Amino acid sequence: MTAAADRVLEGLDGIRTQVEDFYRDLHAHPELGLSETRTSARVAERLREWGYQVTDGIGGTGVIGVLERGDGPTVLLRADMDALPVKEITGLPYASTVTATDRSGNEVPVMHACGHDVHVACMLGFARLMAGAQDVWQGTLVVLFQPSEENGDGADAMLSDGLADGIPRPDVAFAQHVLPYPAGYVGVRPGAFLSAADSLRITLYGRGAHGSMPQAAVDPVVLAAMCVVRLQTVVSRELSPTTPAVLTIGSITAGSSPNVIPDSAVLELNVRSYDGTTRTYVLDAIERCVRAESEASGAPKEPSIEKLSEFPPTRNDADVAERLDKAFRAHFGESAGTVDLQTASEDFSEIPQALGTPFCYWAIGGIDPDRYAEAERKGTVNQDIPVNHSPAFAPVIQPTLDTGTSALVVAALAWLESGDA
Ligand code: ZN
Ligand code: ZN
Repeated sequence: MTAAADRVLEGLDGIRTQVEDFYRDLHAHPELGLSETRTSARVAERLREWGYQVTDGIGGTGVIGVLERGDGPTVLLRADMDALPVKEITGLPYASTVTATDRSGNEVPVMHACGHDVHVACMLGFARLMAGAQDVWQGTLVVLFQPSEENGDGADAMLSDGLADGIPRPDVAFAQHVLPYPAGYVGVRPGAFLSAADSLRITLYGRGAHGSMPQAAVDPVVLAAMCVVRLQTVVSRELSPTTPAVLTIGSITAGSSPNVIPDSAVLELNVRSYDGTTRTYVLDAIERCVRAESEASGAPKEPSIEKLSEFPPTRNDADVAERLDKAFRAHFGESAGTVDLQTASEDFSEIPQALGTPFCYWAIGGIDPDRYAEAERKGTVNQDIPVNHSPAFAPVIQPTLDTGTSALVVAALAWLESGDA
């Protein structure tokens, strides 16, 4: 498999400048989820130029390109395209100064603070290389450019818009993410990779009264405080110490005056988990606790629990991950390895799951390797290395883009390599 990858990657020198230019342009022109019109138009135009069968506007701004070359497996590779409402402070010559109107109608700064511009640039580099080396592989290639990953609704938007009917059923699906590891590094792991994320809004009901007359009230502020304390015990006291999960109450709102007991309180919380059983357990436990605390307070009404957003867990198929791990180690040598379990979340897996396709997600590093080594030496990685979503997140262009492009080639060829390559 190395030989075939090497043959395709012979073209890398010839397209490097184009990929880098495309990346800088994307970075300077970020677009919020479901508004990726400029990005998707550019992507579609290039794919057409290189002979891909292109369908655009799927789920709003999603694009797919299909390239068929005889019998063989079908491989789907996905890149996300959206940026974040973050004001860039990197000081890079190609930094974003863009603002846009968000879904609530507010004018916000926009930045590629999660590196999705890296993903798009690498996927285009990959698409170009594969189109130019069709004697090396056989099968069907599906490159998928997804909108609105950050809002968790882009994969679903493409699926609801008939994605499954528009492409051949893939035998395997891949996605990659640039993360705060040294640039040049590629890391994969079998099983759990990214957490599930569930955000809830819980409204607790009491009975309002004068601040001096608590006997006439059911105080929702006290009830909310009891819930906050009780909910801390779900992870710490009900789950095994070896089962990772996070429960964070990020927002608590009640009342507006020191001498008025309000009639309701609102908690907003976020749960991270890595498997369906834990996820269901924690979400059920939250409901059990807030209902019981409400009852214990003598609340006049049951609490209401509203789901604000949800991301599935990203769990890599063990066989696919093993095959990829071998291919990455054969190509990248010591720069390939494993990565820690990540607490971030993704909606990518909704696509292969809806198509019944096994999948694998991997990480590429984006931090200058010397800077990373220095921070490691000083023990200050957490303080000195900007992470995704930080206004200072600035992947180094190389070797990040070469590595991301090569990783896609190596992965695809681990399935599409023709017998004689
Ligand atoms: Zn992100
Ligand atoms: Zn991201």
